[in-house]
Amino acid sequence: MCRGLRDLIWSLAPLEERERGRDEKYAEHGWDKGICKTPLYPPSITCTNSQCGHANKGVEMRDYDKMGRAIILTLNGGVKFTKVVNLTCAGCRRSYRHNYYVHSDSKTRTYYPGPNLPQYIQLDEHHYAETELYLCDKLCHGF
Ligand SMILES: [Zn+2]
Repeated sequence: MCRGLRDLIWSLAPLEERERGRDEKYAEHGWDKGICKTPLYPPSITCTNSQCGHANKGVEMRDYDKMGRAIILTLNGGVKFTKVVNLTCAGCRRSYRHNYYVHSDSKTRTYYPGPNLPQYIQLDEHHYAETELYLCDKLCHGF
């Protein structure tokens, strides 16, 4: 390792401190302009419904059924501003959110499969919570 890089690494502030500094800069200079550090998009721009013709053709979803502002409640970082983008497939009308999808005929959320819990849980239209915070709250106050 070169000496300059070693000196730089040892002079850096701890990661949490640097992250906090970035969060503060986004809050101070970005939020009023609609710029956020953690935008919440669906994981794919194409439909994943195997029964949908658009999914089979790889057609990109261009229907932004919802694009808005929200806040994320975090365990260690306090409240953060975020932008939320939801996409709807023009073929099957399935609406894709950050960590789940719903069909236009239903209000049932189907969370995307995966080995881990999602990083954020949607509480209502404009409020999200870090899953870690959400679970702490549920453990303290019951499910
Ligand atoms: Zn579709």
